[in-house]
Amino acid sequence: MTTLADCLHRDAIDPLRGLRNKFDLPENLIYLDGNSLGVMPRSAPGRIAQVVTQEWGSDLIQSWNKHGWFQMPGKVGDKIARLIGAGPGEVVATDSTSVNLFKVLNAAMNIAATDAPQRKRIVSERSNFPTDLYIAEALCKQHGLELVLVEPEAIAASLTAEVAILMLTHVNYRTGAMHDMAAVTAAAHAEGILTVWDLAHSAGAVPVNLTATKADFAVGCGYKYLNGGPGAPAFVWVNPHHADRFWQPLAGWWGHVAPFAFTPDYQPAPGIARYQCGTQPVISLAALECGVDTVLDAAPLGGMEALRAKSLALTDLFIQLVEERCEGHDLGLATPRVHTLRGSQVSLTRNQGAYAIVQALIARGVIGDYRAGDGECHKDILRFGFTPLYIGFADVWNAVEQLKQVLESGEWRRPEFNQKHAVT
Ligand SMILES: *Cc1c(COP(=O)(O)O)cnc(C)c1O
Repeated sequence: MTTLADCLHRDAIDPLRGLRNKFDLPENLIYLDGNSLGVMPRSAPGRIAQVVTQEWGSDLIQSWNKHGWFQMPGKVGDKIARLIGAGPGEVVATDSTSVNLFKVLNAAMNIAATDAPQRKRIVSERSNFPTDLYIAEALCKQHGLELVLVEPEAIAASLTAEVAILMLTHVNYRTGAMHDMAAVTAAAHAEGILTVWDLAHSAGAVPVNLTATKADFAVGCGYKYLNGGPGAPAFVWVNPHHADRFWQPLAGWWGHVAPFAFTPDYQPAPGIARYQCGTQPVISLAALECGVDTVLDAAPLGGMEALRAKSLALTDLFIQLVEERCEGHDLGLATPRVHTLRGSQVSLTRNQGAYAIVQALIARGVIGDYRAGDGECHKDILRFGFTPLYIGFADVWNAVEQLKQVLESGEWRRPEFNQKHAVT
């Protein structure tokens, strides 16, 4: 049996342990929700204050040139590129994941309409994050295409000659199940299908190599494992061999080849720069850069591969301790045990009380979250994200101890834990 002392020892010898000091972690809190909103980097308040008081406050409009504000989406994009196997100049940090998905899916639809107009289907996963499905549904209506939603095991069989685009999220937000991006992309390409990947739960969490997998388009989120702060700009990548083929639909002046020429006609910038639309949120980009830097700080210690190894050790330990210590409490496991199929979270299922158990844990200082099931094939989920930059092995032990106490005491049945809030 693993003990708390064993976990403390693993923390003591963990070469990544020092990275925790890059964050302002509240005392007495075990934060297992970095997959939803990453912890604030210690560098962020000072950097934001500098942008506000000095760059905005004193240098005002000159800061676009003097402090490189204009270049920030590309500069932060280049840093993110290093984490997802993209090249310099191939990524911009801009807008939200939803908006970026709208842009790339539209571009992919234009490519398909030109190269393979007989293909009228977009395939995605039924349990994909809803905003991805909503954006796809809206665009399908506009383009006269059909959105087909399948369960993960049916994806391979759904890749037929009618399909134009396969749109998937690499790591599923509910279950933490991870697709084999290289294999799925190759299978899609073999059938003449374009791929659009959402890396919201991958960037900063698991190694990704967009160049090697030859994916076509990718988007991802800045405020989850990249620790960019609430509503941080997202990112967008387009395979360089597609980048110049089509406009993106939100053809604003920041994507123009020469925004300050103020010409009445639109001429897209070459490459990924055209995926910007309007004036960019400088303060938020500064915060995002601090967050991305926390992940890049792991580079001398082995980078994403080292973070991945620790993440798997943390999620393995969590699964093991829940099974050893919370036995008999009707908890199931929605996350794959096989490493190659698992992201950086563990999702537990329970037939009853999942929401209230999460609330009772939060009251005890263990922050996870709840995701509703659909009552059919998907059960209610208690979701725990493990960001290896700041979560340790003793945190895992202590979180499971609190879960055990919540279940044994039955305190989750109390009315205050059964009241639903706007954000779960
Ligand atoms: C978190 C997440 C989003 C969030 O999109 P926003 O536009 O930032 O609200 C989108 N897709 C997936 C798969 C996500 O996990």
